[in-house]
Amino acid sequence: MTSEANKSDKELWFLTGSQHLYGPETLKQVSENSRQIAASLDGSGRVPVRIVWKPILTTPEDIHAVCLAANSDPNCIGVITWMHTFSPAKMWIAGLTHLQKPLAHLHTQFNVELPWGEIDMDFMNLNQSAHGDREYGFIGARLRMNRKIIVGHFRDPEVLTELEGWSRSALAWSESKSLKIVRFGGMNMREVAVTGGDRVEAQIQLGWSINGYGVGDLAKVIAEVPDAEVDRLVSEYDDLYSLVPALRKGGALRENLRFEARQEAGMKAFLDEGGYRAFTTTFEDLHGLKQLPGFACQRLMAQGYGFGAEGDWKTAALVRLGKVMTGDRPGGVSFMEDYTYHLTPGQERILGAHMIEVCPSIAAGRPNLEVHELNIGGRADLARLVFDAKPGPAVNATLMDLGGRMRMIVAELDVVAPEHSMPKLPTARALWVPRPDFKRGAKAWILAGGGHHSAFCQAVTAPEWEDFAKMAGLEVVRFGADLDLHALENELRWNELAYKLGVR
Ligand code: MN
Repeated sequence: MTSEANKSDKELWFLTGSQHLYGPETLKQVSENSRQIAASLDGSGRVPVRIVWKPILTTPEDIHAVCLAANSDPNCIGVITWMHTFSPAKMWIAGLTHLQKPLAHLHTQFNVELPWGEIDMDFMNLNQSAHGDREYGFIGARLRMNRKIIVGHFRDPEVLTELEGWSRSALAWSESKSLKIVRFGGMNMREVAVTGGDRVEAQIQLGWSINGYGVGDLAKVIAEVPDAEVDRLVSEYDDLYSLVPALRKGGALRENLRFEARQEAGMKAFLDEGGYRAFTTTFEDLHGLKQLPGFACQRLMAQGYGFGAEGDWKTAALVRLGKVMTGDRPGGVSFMEDYTYHLTPGQERILGAHMIEVCPSIAAGRPNLEVHELNIGGRADLARLVFDAKPGPAVNATLMDLGGRMRMIVAELDVVAPEHSMPKLPTARALWVPRPDFKRGAKAWILAGGGHHSAFCQAVTAPEWEDFAKMAGLEVVRFGADLDLHALENELRWNELAYKLGVR
């Protein structure tokens, strides 16, 4: 449930179509009913943004004007449309062709049951969304509009689930359009293919402004962090995590932890100063830093920033968008890397982790704060949060630049509790089984060109990512229980053609 208090200040506008033909009495009733529907959706506790009723629309001019107003209102993240009566759809052409916000078509009606004994032509005239929504649906198809169609009574829990999911996708799309990403060190890991991509195209299509800074610029900010801020953070660590003795107050490596806190505070200051909500690091550029910021990345992800390792700005953006979608939901979102397998037949598992940078929002319990030496690119011993991910359903989302377009993969999976402890593994990890099973899931991922990094999401569902991708005009392939490899191969082949023809 989304309480009134943690609702976003973003809005979805509820637009009701009709026409003048029915006379003022009927229109008054249309207006009253649609107001009640909007209020019911808004008060359902299911939608994380406000649903704002707008006066009913009966002319092309009204419709055009409200679509332009939606475009220019920074709080409006999308419009929900519904035809209570018949609303001749040519009236919608001017508005819809100018609409730049996500569009949902809520195919509902005011009443649940037909009033069998009482039904007459007045009732039929007033309650004809079955009729009017088909006329309106045609123009959406005719205009090749990307729209979410949600069918059912407005109090139906399934309808609310779909509307909630779509509103979260719209929140992510709104964030995407103004997302600023900083690349500390300004580079990809050398020779790596999948983490690269066309940043200009990403900004044109997705709104992401991606810029690099020398690590020296960051080192300067880190050096200026006041001691009081370091004290505050270190005591927060004491409260939140189970520290190994060396990191505790008076411990041999407590100073290392203080430096980690300084890094976290410096990175946060740098990000906030520039309005950046996502960032990347690279272990190949640490000039001026004592240590690879790893624990700081864990901490900043937990505070809602997106992160991608080795310069991976695409995954950094997805992690941020996942967090925007579901900040008020249980379960977390983390940067993740497919690392190694357990291949015992019938019990196959994927062990996902990273060198350090896994977000504690996905942890099963209170994380341990440990200190270990780093084998790659490392300098000093590094603190890091170590934990297992919480068992349950999750999805991995990833994005690849295929040259000419980007493809998103959304793969459903089930996180499982490890059957054995891994006492020597010095990193946070998630153990999962892809759907429908290990072999088909891994094969589909590789066939579609999915990389080794993803946004691992306990809190976001596959349809929510899919809706986001559609809003963004991204190619999206989804792997779940119904994965059919033969159909997937065809889908990928046909998408090649569809995107060349400009069909979205
Ligand atoms: Mn990596």
